Amino acid sequence: MSEILIRNARAVLTMDDAETELSDADILLRDGVIAGIGSRLETTGEIVDARHCVVTPGLVNTHHHLYQGLTKAVPGGQDALLFGWLQTLYPIWERFGPEEFYVSAQVGLAELALSGCTLSSDHLYLYPNGARLDDSIAAAQDLGVRFHATRGSMSIGVSNGGLPPDSLVEQESAILEDCIRVIDAFHDPSEGAMVRVGVAPCSPFSVSRELMRDSAILARDKGVMMHTHLAENDEDVAYSLEKFGCRPGQYAEDLGWTGPDVWHAHCVKLDGQEIDLFAATRTGVAHCPCSNCRLGSGIAPVRAMLDAGVNVGLGVDGSASNDMASLIGEARQAMLLQRVQNGADAMSARAALRVATRGGAEVLGRHDCGQVAVGLRADLALWDVSGLESAGSWDPAALLLAGPQKVRHLFVEGRQVVRDGRIATLDIDAALVRHREMARTLAGLG
Ligand SMILES: [Zn+2]
Repeated sequence: MSEILIRNARAVLTMDDAETELSDADILLRDGVIAGIGSRLETTGEIVDARHCVVTPGLVNTHHHLYQGLTKAVPGGQDALLFGWLQTLYPIWERFGPEEFYVSAQVGLAELALSGCTLSSDHLYLYPNGARLDDSIAAAQDLGVRFHATRGSMSIGVSNGGLPPDSLVEQESAILEDCIRVIDAFHDPSEGAMVRVGVAPCSPFSVSRELMRDSAILARDKGVMMHTHLAENDEDVAYSLEKFGCRPGQYAEDLGWTGPDVWHAHCVKLDGQEIDLFAATRTGVAHCPCSNCRLGSGIAPVRAMLDAGVNVGLGVDGSASNDMASLIGEARQAMLLQRVQNGADAMSARAALRVATRGGAEVLGRHDCGQVAVGLRADLALWDVSGLESAGSWDPAALLLAGPQKVRHLFVEGRQVVRDGRIATLDIDAALVRHREMARTLAGLG
């Protein structure tokens, strides 16, 4: 039996249905689960002093492309729109191999962990030079964060009217076979799972209608979730209207891509009817506000989605279109953007944090995470509010208005992944050295 007692937390935002907030509370973690919440709890295990900390559920990242961490701020793509940005980066990604995917996942997940993330999904849709989904799963396991890897794919190369170069696309039969392989090898459907696998064609403009449909059939046969990009910007909607004769929501519905086992990234351009469709079918949305700003895609109608009952979580999106991967920063950006669109009362700091925690957990089908509650998994972020960023705040629990950008401590399945603001589970400095060398080599400097 392993126990850790988080003692005397200044505030605990539980994210339960009643929006309960506790003060001066203890939280007992035992064998990966929250075993007790109260005052003057006792343990024979380690005690973590949380007097200066606000405790939240671990943040959940519902959309990412971790490999892109090696191509942040690439000059040719810094100011491009989505399609031009992709065309700048494809030739660089063509040169990646297994080690690039492993190291970029390790560093990217560490960056996320420091920003409060305990559970991340990843959308990996290109596999050059022998790379496999296994590479990023290994990185997540080594770091100790909860990981939902999705087996992405691209099948329509430039010679068939698609966007990616032919060298980065795969045969559709090989894609489906590898989906089965990685699901059988890694997917854990049980409560408390550290690794789950999903099926995730890259986008409607890089795979065929048949692969979208077959992926949905395969995912449902295997009982795994499905993910893709949808309605990201005006070009995306125009492509759908021109090629498929319908809006993205209709395309998704026709091919089986709605339901509680589906979540779509971006959805910036969903109209009212599509929002109603997503609400009625319990289809989830990964809202990526910084990426949407960075690529000039627009402001996703998140307030309208939440009002309609759509499950919404947050995503940092790939590091090449953000270019930072701070999940707490993403939550603040989500709050600010909804205020730009709908007024200062459109989204409170606590409401945005709820989207970042419980909202994301629900989008990923994780009802065992996302709240601080007895019996749920011990995934917790501890935010030290005694520092400069919180100084002068009359409400330190309003973390997104005035609060730290990094956690002091982070627990995943009761294991301490961040201790005193440092990654505790691996030698992150060595990983950074390797990452820096790789990025320099890719840029032609090493
Ligand atoms: Zn994306």
